[in-house]
Amino acid sequence: MGTALVTGASAGLGLEFAWQLATARHDVVLVARDEQRLTRLAGQLEAAAGIHAEVLAADLTDTSDVERVAARLRADERPVGLLVNNAGLGLNQRFVDGDLAAEERALDLMVRTPMVLSHAAAGAMVARGRGAILNVGSVAGLIATGTYSAHKAWVRVFTEALAVELKGTGVTATVVCPGFTRTEFHERGRIDTRHYPELGWLDAEDVVAAALADVRRGVVISTPSLRYKAASALLRLAPRSAVRAYGGYRRALKDEADEGRTGAS
Ligand code: NAP
Repeated sequence: MGTALVTGASAGLGLEFAWQLATARHDVVLVARDEQRLTRLAGQLEAAAGIHAEVLAADLTDTSDVERVAARLRADERPVGLLVNNAGLGLNQRFVDGDLAAEERALDLMVRTPMVLSHAAAGAMVARGRGAILNVGSVAGLIATGTYSAHKAWVRVFTEALAVELKGTGVTATVVCPGFTRTEFHERGRIDTRHYPELGWLDAEDVVAAALADVRRGVVISTPSLRYKAASALLRLAPRSAVRAYGGYRRALKDEADEGRTGAS
């Protein structure tokens, strides 16, 4: 049984990845900033699943912390056979008048960090002739709503390019592209979800189960649920002008919600 390293394991999808991987008898390395939550989770996983759980507290916007995680991925002791690049956040601001430092942190967390960790993991895994990298993208990567869409488009194309390069090495690369999923993501990002259709919501348990099943099958692009498979197919076929018009509609809804909040306070 290999060891899996999960970033953003303290909450949401990462927490669910940790549970499902531990239940499938993988040892785990849990990475996030909140050391207390990770330590509590490690104890629960060890007690419930009888596996070994390591805690690696790290701020993945900090290059020296990222390097500590990369070093763990290169280590030969308890070698990591699955890397899950999951940590992320919703940056709920307009770009033009938004905070540039927050933009840079989001880019580091969702683009630079998965790139650096994939480099460390792929090198070690190719040398061993086996392993898997799972990057968490989003259906947002197919549309045009804020820099978040651009980050997630990067994650998708990067993973596809990685999969091409890894072919025949025994190592696979998969990107999972979930739609709206019930986690802490929207509350943390102060994202107003009142206009989200009820049918659009997915459960973290289903998203993670679909993603891990696709990793086992060596699928490159994993889109959990029939609803989002259909929506993604439509978005790939639609003219980009229509996709941008949809982005504009989403932007207008957000602006309206923000104005409502400001007006109410
Ligand atoms: P979540 O519940 O808010 O969890 C985010 C995780 O990322 C937490 O464990 C958090 O841990 C960690 N994290 C955030 N900033 C970090 C930092 N600087 N360094 C280290 N860890 C950090 O969100 P989620 O929905 O599970 O999001 C997981 C992934 O799914 C993200 O990549 C997100 O973009 C993607 N996604 C989510 C949805 C959705 O609707 N929820 C849809 C599509 C894709 P700490 O605070 O302890 O550091």
